[in-house]
Amino acid sequence: PNFELSYRLIHANGHQVQVREKGRGEFDKDGQLLGFDGFIWDATEQARVEQMKSQFVSTVSHELRTPLTAIIGSLKLIHGGALGQLPDSMQSLLGVAVQNSETLHRLINDLLDMDKLTAGKLQIELVRQPLEPLLQQALQLNQSYAAQYDVRQQLGQVDAVEVDVDAQRLGQVLANYLSNAAKFSNAGDAITLSAVADNGWVEISVEDRGIGIPEQEQPRIFDKFFQVDSSNTRKHAGSGLGLAISRELARRMGGEVGFASTAGVGSRFWIRLPVANARADDLRQLH
Ligand code: ADP
Repeated sequence: PNFELSYRLIHANGHQVQVREKGRGEFDKDGQLLGFDGFIWDATEQARVEQMKSQFVSTVSHELRTPLTAIIGSLKLIHGGALGQLPDSMQSLLGVAVQNSETLHRLINDLLDMDKLTAGKLQIELVRQPLEPLLQQALQLNQSYAAQYDVRQQLGQVDAVEVDVDAQRLGQVLANYLSNAAKFSNAGDAITLSAVADNGWVEISVEDRGIGIPEQEQPRIFDKFFQVDSSNTRKHAGSGLGLAISRELARRMGGEVGFASTAGVGSRFWIRLPVANARADDLRQLH
């Protein structure tokens, strides 16, 4: 089995050295350890730079977010008619400004989340609750985004289960799945959100009939900053962080993510979570 370690050592001359180690144990047929094979290197400089980079990202993102929130608020008020009727041409330009500042806001939030996740600083609070209201809410929040792409959202099979989740963070995963599904669908298509329980797990999935993902790109789809490099993706704003964040969030809630996709046919992204009342369900079935 492979291993990766990170630790601090005291150098012979007294200062601390950050060391990283990567390797693999070698075993014989009977499972006896023969030895280790790998590398150990001084990562002091690398660790310092990573620390600076993450400090930089979070400082800059925070500094960007505060003024941006004020800009979005003001634009929305004007766009919404709070200052009176506007000429059509101004109204439509303001619409563009609102949409783009919201895209920027999402991007900054993604950067901040990714930063917190890698630093282990993201707080997740699991609360036992029924799943269905969370799905309803996710659809509602994505409604106007889907409408922009002329995509209809629907609920498929939804099993009545309870889950131990951070509602806001599960909402974030579903928002990523739903907005991607809308973004990569064809106008007039429908996307379907379902939750199917089986064997102590519930699989929540978002299915679309959009452009799909070419097979050679599939292994990297959950990687940070990865976007399929087609002219279609480039037309759509995005950070390439949504899925990487979703995977991390799912893990923090004791679950996992995955997808199946065929280019030109569509995709189905899922998050699988442990069912909180699985035991009660099993018992009910027994009686
Ligand atoms: P973003 O959507 O911000 O680009 P994500 O991490 O959410 O970042 O997605 C990464 C990439 O995966 C997208 O840019 C797109 O190429 C691909 N992708 C995600 N969901 C879908 C989908 N439902 N259909 C087709 N491609 C998708």
